[in-house]
Amino acid sequence: MINSQKIKKISKDAGADIVGIASMDRWEGAPKQMDPRYIHPNAKSMIVLGFRHFRGLFRGIEEGTFFSLYSSMGYAGINGTYQPLVLWKIGKVIEDNGYEAVCIPNRCLWGNTDASGIEPEKTGKENYAHSRPVENVKPAPNIFVQVRIAAFLAGLGEIGWSKMFLSPEFGPRQRLALIITDAQLDPDPLYNGPPLCDRCMMCANACTNNAIPRDKTIKITLAGREIEWADIDMLKCSYGFCGSSEFHNPFMVTEEDKKKFNSEKRIEARDYKINPIDGYSRALEGASGCIRACMIHLEQKRKIKNLFNNKFRRKKPWKLDKIAASD
Ligand code: SF4
Repeated sequence: MINSQKIKKISKDAGADIVGIASMDRWEGAPKQMDPRYIHPNAKSMIVLGFRHFRGLFRGIEEGTFFSLYSSMGYAGINGTYQPLVLWKIGKVIEDNGYEAVCIPNRCLWGNTDASGIEPEKTGKENYAHSRPVENVKPAPNIFVQVRIAAFLAGLGEIGWSKMFLSPEFGPRQRLALIITDAQLDPDPLYNGPPLCDRCMMCANACTNNAIPRDKTIKITLAGREIEWADIDMLKCSYGFCGSSEFHNPFMVTEEDKKKFNSEKRIEARDYKINPIDGYSRALEGASGCIRACMIHLEQKRKIKNLFNNKFRRKKPWKLDKIAASD
C-alpha cells in the first residue's frame, strides 16, 4: 500500500532532493493547453520532485574560466540522466502497487507551441500549424505543463520575481520533474513559510540581456492564491542565456561571432563553436541574474537552508570589454 509518506521516502532514497504532492483539482482553471489532467483524466495526484543544481556548477562561469558544467552536469545531466533514473525507481513502486505512474522528466516538457515557438506558457494558446487535437474535446499535443506552477501547487515553495521557482532549501537552484498518478495521495499544503522573494531586483539588475523587467508583471491565481512574477522577455532570455552579450561571453571574439550569437535564428552554441556534452551546450551565461544573483541574495539573507562555509562571490563579477571590430 502506498501513501504520501512512503512516496516521499522512496523519492528521497532514489535521489530527489525535495518532494511535494498536489491533488489534481488544484489545476482547476488552467488553460486547456496547459492542463495536465488531459494527460491522465483519472489522475488523482501529482508528485513533484526537485533536483538541486550544485552551487559548484556555477563556479567556473563565475570565475570566467570553465563554462561547460552548467550545460552538462546541470541542464543535460539532471534533465536527461539523473531525473529519468530516479523517476524509473519511483514509478516501479507506484506501478507495483497497481497504479499508473506517468513519469515526466523536465526534458519531455515541450508544448504545442505558439507562433513564436518559445512562449507557450505565456499564451496558453494552441497552434494548429504545429499539431492538431486527436478528438474535438481535447487539446492539441503536446500539453505544456508548467513545472514551476506544479511545484507551487505541490507546496515546494514559491515563484520569484524572476519567474524562477524558489524553494526554501535551494532558492532558485533546482530542476523539476513530475509524476502524475491515479493513486490517491494526501496533498501537501501550499507553501506557507517565510516569503523567499523580497523583490530585491538583483535578478533584474544582473541579467546580462535585460530580460527581466522591473515594472511589468504577469498575475495569475493558483489554487486560490494570487501569484505575480515579472513578465520576462523570453526572446531576450533565450538569446541571453546562450551568450548574446559580448561583455559576458568570452567565446565571442569577432564581429562574425557576434552576428551568430545574436542571430534571429535560435542558435545552439554548439552550432559553430562549443562542443555539446550530453547533447547540450547552450547555457553559457550561467544564469547570472535568475540563479546566481538571486542565490547570493538569498544566502546573504539566510533565507535558504543549503548554506555554505564560504561566500559564493568574493569580488566584483568579471565583465569583458567590447569586442575589437575586425576589418
Ligand atoms: S533576485 Fe530578488 S527579486 Fe529576483 S527572484 Fe530572487 S529574491 Fe526575488
